[in-house]
Amino acid sequence: MTKNIGLCWIKDDFRVQKNLALSEATKNHDQVVAFYLYKKKIFLNQEAQQWWVNKSLVNFQKILNQFNINLEIIETDSYKLFFDELTNKNNFSIYWNKTYEPNYLKFDKYLVNKFESNKIKYKIFKGNILNDIEEVKKGDGSPFKVFTPYWRNAEKFYSEKVPPSKKKVYKKKKKFSYFKNKISPEKILPKKNWFKKFEKYWLPSEENALKELKIFIKNKIENYSDARNFPHIIGTSKLSPFIKHGQIHVETIWEECSKNGKKNISKYLAEIGWREFNHSLINFFPHMLKGNYSKKFDKFPWEKNSKFLLAWKKGLTGYPIVDAGMRELYETGWMHNRVRMIVGSFLVKHLLINWIEGEKHFRKCLLDFNEANNISGWQWVAGCGADAAPYFRIFNPILQGEKFDKEGEYVRKWIPELKKISNKFIHKPWEIKDDKILKLGKDYPLPIVNHEEARTKALKAFKKI
Ligand SMILES: Cc1cc2nc3c(=O)[nH]c(=O)nc-3n(C[C@H](O)[C@H](O)[C@H](O)COP(=O)(O)OP(=O)(O)OC[C@H]3O[C@@H](n4cnc5c(N)ncnc54)[C@H](O)[C@@H]3O)c2cc1C
Repeated sequence: MTKNIGLCWIKDDFRVQKNLALSEATKNHDQVVAFYLYKKKIFLNQEAQQWWVNKSLVNFQKILNQFNINLEIIETDSYKLFFDELTNKNNFSIYWNKTYEPNYLKFDKYLVNKFESNKIKYKIFKGNILNDIEEVKKGDGSPFKVFTPYWRNAEKFYSEKVPPSKKKVYKKKKKFSYFKNKISPEKILPKKNWFKKFEKYWLPSEENALKELKIFIKNKIENYSDARNFPHIIGTSKLSPFIKHGQIHVETIWEECSKNGKKNISKYLAEIGWREFNHSLINFFPHMLKGNYSKKFDKFPWEKNSKFLLAWKKGLTGYPIVDAGMRELYETGWMHNRVRMIVGSFLVKHLLINWIEGEKHFRKCLLDFNEANNISGWQWVAGCGADAAPYFRIFNPILQGEKFDKEGEYVRKWIPELKKISNKFIHKPWEIKDDKILKLGKDYPLPIVNHEEARTKALKAFKKI
C-alpha cells in the first residue's frame, strides 16, 4: 500500500464493477478521490447528455459514499491546463480507464509523458470495450474495413482471451477531499427545461443498467433478431445510454448473455460488435470524424435548405414514420435503430441535406450519443461510410412504415394528430380525401417532398459522383 493519494479520473465510467482504474486505486491507497472533469465546451453540442451526466454523478457519488470515496467535479476549459497544474502537486498516483476516441487516446500519450517526466505514478486501463483497438487487425496488420470479417475475428479473439470475472468487493477508505474549486452536479444541467421529460423514461444508474440487462435476457433476447426491427415493440435492450456512460461494461453484457445459456445471443452480441467495429474505424481512419470516409462523397451536390431541415428536426415532414421518430428523439433522448435509419435516409436522400447536419442534431438530442456510433451510423446511412448501405438503395418511408409499423402503433404513439387515422392511411395520410377526418396542411403537414420525385432527384445527384 502506497501512502500517497490515489486519484481516479472518471470519464465515461460511472460504475464500480469492471472499473479497473477504480479498483486498482482502492487496492493501492488508503485515501482515494475520484474526479470528473466538466468541460462546458464539449456539452454545448451534446445538450441531452448533460442531464444523463448530472444524474450519473449524483448516483455515483451515493455509491462511492459507501466506501468513503469522494467524487469531485472540477470545471475546466482545458484538460491540458488542468493536468499541468495537477502535476505540480506531486503527492498522488493517478488511474484512469481508456476512452476510445482518437483525441482521448492521443491525450493519454501526452499525460504519460508528463507523468513520467515528473515521476508521478500512473496506470491506464482498458475501458468499456471487449477488445482494445490494436488487438483486432487483419493477418497483414492492416485494419478491417468490413464488419463481418472484423466481428468474426474480434468475437473469436475475445472469447479465447477472457475468463469471466468475479464481482469486485470494495473496502472502506479514509474519507478525503483533494480538489479546491469543486462544482456541484447541478451546474451541468442544461439551461432549457427540455431535459425534465427524460425523468419519465430513464433511471441512469449502474444498478438499473444491470437490472434492465437481466430483464432483456430473460424476456426478450430470444426474439431479438426479429423484434429489433419493430419500433412499436420494446424489442431491443435500450441499454445504449448506459453503455455510453459506462454504467455497464460490455464485458458484463457478454458474460450475462453467455451464462444465461439461451440460444439467439449471437445477433445481440453482433450489435455490440458493431459498436466495437465503429470504434476501430474512427481510430484507424480518423479523417471520418471530420468528413466522409469515402472521399468521392466530398463532391456530392448536397443542398442547403433550412426550411426542410427544420421540418425534419421538428417531425413535420408529412411522412408519419419519419415524424414519429424525430418526435420520439426529442421527447425521450433516444430513437429506435430502424427509425434512425429511416429518418437518416430521408434527410440525406429525400432532402439531399448533408449527413453532417443530421449527425449534429442527433449529437444534441441523443442520450446515447457517442462519436464512433453516431458518425459511423450517419455515414452508413448516407452511403459514404466504410461498410455502408449503398446510396442508391433509397428507403421508401411509406413502405418502411407499412412493413415495420403495420398497425401504425408507433406513429400514433408519437403523433397524436394521427391517433384516429385508420391503418390504411396511417403511413400516407395525404390520401385521405375527407377533411372531417384530417385537415391536411392544418392538423398535419402535407409531405414536404414527393417520394418518387425526391428519389429520382437523389439518384441523379448520386450519378454526379
Ligand atoms: C444514424 C444513426 C446514428 C446512430 N447514433 C448512435 C449513437 O450516437 N450512439 C449509439 O450508441 N448508437 C447509435 N446508433 C446505433 C443504434 O441505433 C443504437 O446503438 C441503438 O438503437 C441503441 O438501442 P439499444 O440499446 O436498444 O440497442 P440494442 O439493439 O439493444 O443493441 C445493444 C447495443 O449494441 C450497440 N448497437 C446496437 N446497434 C448498433 C449499431 N447499429 N451500431 C453500433 N452499435 C450498435 C449499442 O451499444 C446498443 O446499446 C446510430 C445508428 C444510426 C443509424
